[in-house]
Amino acid sequence: MFNPFDEEYDIQTLAVRAGYEQTPEQENSEAIFPTSSFRYKSAAQAAARFSGEEAGNVYSRYTNPTVRTFEQRLALMEGAEACVGTASGMAAILSTFMALCKAGDHVISSQSIFGTTKMLFSKYLAKFGVEVTFVSQTDITEWEASIKENTKAFFLETPSNPMTEIADLEKLSALSKANDCLLIVDNCFCTPILQRPLQQGADIVIHSATKFLDGQGRAIGGAVLGNQQLVGEEVRGFMRTCGPSMSPFNAWIFIKGLETLSVRMRAHCENAQNLAEWLEAHPKVDVVFYPGLESHPQYELGKKQQSAAGGLLSFRIKGTKDDAWTVVDNTKMLSITANLGDTKTIITHPATTTHCRVAPEDRIKAGITDNLLRISVGLESIDDIKRDLARGLDKI
Ligand SMILES: *Cc1c(COP(=O)(O)O)cnc(C)c1O
Repeated sequence: MFNPFDEEYDIQTLAVRAGYEQTPEQENSEAIFPTSSFRYKSAAQAAARFSGEEAGNVYSRYTNPTVRTFEQRLALMEGAEACVGTASGMAAILSTFMALCKAGDHVISSQSIFGTTKMLFSKYLAKFGVEVTFVSQTDITEWEASIKENTKAFFLETPSNPMTEIADLEKLSALSKANDCLLIVDNCFCTPILQRPLQQGADIVIHSATKFLDGQGRAIGGAVLGNQQLVGEEVRGFMRTCGPSMSPFNAWIFIKGLETLSVRMRAHCENAQNLAEWLEAHPKVDVVFYPGLESHPQYELGKKQQSAAGGLLSFRIKGTKDDAWTVVDNTKMLSITANLGDTKTIITHPATTTHCRVAPEDRIKAGITDNLLRISVGLESIDDIKRDLARGLDKI
């Protein structure tokens, strides 16, 4: 019987096999347990389960066998002691901060984070007395200068979206440790296949499973990973009481997503590299942002920190907002939406969608100009993707 602790298994093997115990039906594909509660053999067993004296399932708000398979598999892949599955990526971020911060704490966050996360910080955490300072993703001196007596955590995602800026995990981890802070990394874009932040000094890793972990745009979910104390006790305790839990059905989708994650990530990266190079050479394209290009400002850091450059890129066309929309509107195949990490290639105009609520001057400062387009590169033929983009580019 496969036991992931028997010997040292590669991440690709863990992704396919870890975290599952066959039921007496001897199935080969993981079973799904859509049950809210569990039955006991006796009153004494019920009492033992509720008191925690006996390990085992009680109620699916906090333990469910399908969710546990997802958690154990992802934990082994990230090299974490503990993992808590959540209802969404945002629920993972909320659970982490509710569990680990209190009123009066201060957090330093990269300014180049997912817009909704920024909103969670500036509207909701603020309401409960947690103050967040936003700094440059890449300028470590800004992080250093923002540290206060009460700074509890650093937060970032790398590479950032849509500009693909890379944060230096080793340096930020050293700085956070020297100041008794936690380094929290949203690893949604790289997944453990390309980058394992806990091995590079992070204390907590967060995922939106909605993106590459599912990888096929089917379900919403998230995860928090870290050591037993912070995640196994604190974050799980919050989950148990407050209930932003992952559903067993979604967990089953993510389990199956993890099984193909390494081949999908390789294919996403290969297509994205190819597309980035093609765009960079295109006469109607001004600049391409992709860590796999030598022109990228953190090209060397990216090579050191990630095993490949990822599936997301953005580029500025030589033109206006209307020209950018021309590129979007002349596609026949690409999906016009704002999601990412799907087998289907997605085209997004960030300035008028994902970042439309950011004040124009802040948007420009962040590099999100009106002529910027973002592509989440999918798994279709790269030639068909290029042809679909060329239609609009040729009209500029
Ligand atoms: C999408 C996303 C989230 C939020 O995840 P949901 O599953 O949509 O709640 C958080 N972080 C990053 C980097 C994301 O792209």
